[in-house]
Amino acid sequence: MSRLGSFMVSTPSIPSPPAALAGLSDALREWFAGNARDLPWRRTRDPYATLVSELMLQQTQVATVIPYFERWLRRFPDWTALAGAPEAEVLKHWEGLGYYARARNLHRAAQAVAARPDGKLPADWTVIRALPGVGDYTAGAVASFAFGLRAPLVDANVARVLARLMNLAEPVDAPAGLRALWAEAERLLPADGEIAREHNAALMELGAVLCRPGEPPCLLCPVRRWCAAYARGTQARRPVKRPRRRVVELTENCGWIRSGDRVLLEQSRGPRWKGLWRLPLLGRSPAAGQPPLATATYPFTHHRVTLRVFAARPPRALREGQAWMASDALAAAAMTSPHRRMMERLLQPGAPAPEA
Ligand code: SF4
Repeated sequence: MSRLGSFMVSTPSIPSPPAALAGLSDALREWFAGNARDLPWRRTRDPYATLVSELMLQQTQVATVIPYFERWLRRFPDWTALAGAPEAEVLKHWEGLGYYARARNLHRAAQAVAARPDGKLPADWTVIRALPGVGDYTAGAVASFAFGLRAPLVDANVARVLARLMNLAEPVDAPAGLRALWAEAERLLPADGEIAREHNAALMELGAVLCRPGEPPCLLCPVRRWCAAYARGTQARRPVKRPRRRVVELTENCGWIRSGDRVLLEQSRGPRWKGLWRLPLLGRSPAAGQPPLATATYPFTHHRVTLRVFAARPPRALREGQAWMASDALAAAAMTSPHRRMMERLLQPGAPAPEA
């Protein structure tokens, strides 16, 4: 057994789990065989497609990801195609999924794999884990789903199931709770890599469709007899989480600046939306009493951002990163979702006129 990252990855010489645990895994996989959803990334073992799906599924719902995943593979079918694509096009294909660091990391990961002598990702957890944007969970998922390596994985769904099976009282988003979850994921994993692959997929599916937050329908659950939370009636109180961080309010003041049918936009330079087009930030506060043309709010991690857009005059000279964009070019530009929604609202007939 070797220690990699924050959890243990085992070699095939690891003994099988005790019979009781094998029974749990058997019941789980049997349930999965009859209940698995048909998802496009489950029809492939291509490491590239597996990584694409895993990065898209971080922070984004399955139903939203499916059309993005299919479009992405049509445009960027393999490591080489993605590695050679311009970043603006990569970001454009990601538009609407949010958390654009994932797209940039995927782009860099493709460049790293394409630059390898054989242009392939090897069946090696350590190499997978070293790719940009790949953490313990994603490395486990690619190692297991694409290569059939015996690698444990813990995502939010698996964490919920395991915390209930163990009746874990530690917060699952604190280091001690995470360590306990990874150790349990490892302990439950069947010795054979291909069986472990099914086991991992089944555990994720159970958390996604049955062992849901709140009061799960435990009477339908294939692993009820191994579930400590069910036995003690604590399932609605598991997993335990740390108290939520207070939501911080932020305000963004932007300008709505037109010239004929063109709109002034600027490219973000901050880490959040680097390279994406957005409405230009106002250099100074709007005049006292000037009402915004439109406002909207959107969440960002633990922030709630109020976007206020004011009519503004065209500047004498454009700042670095600013450009006039004709209305027929707007659709093709990679733009932050809140700013695109706002722009589309202001471009509608009858929207407030930009008089600064
Ligand atoms: S018995 Fe209930 S709480 Fe336990 S794993 Fe199954 S669905 Fe989740």
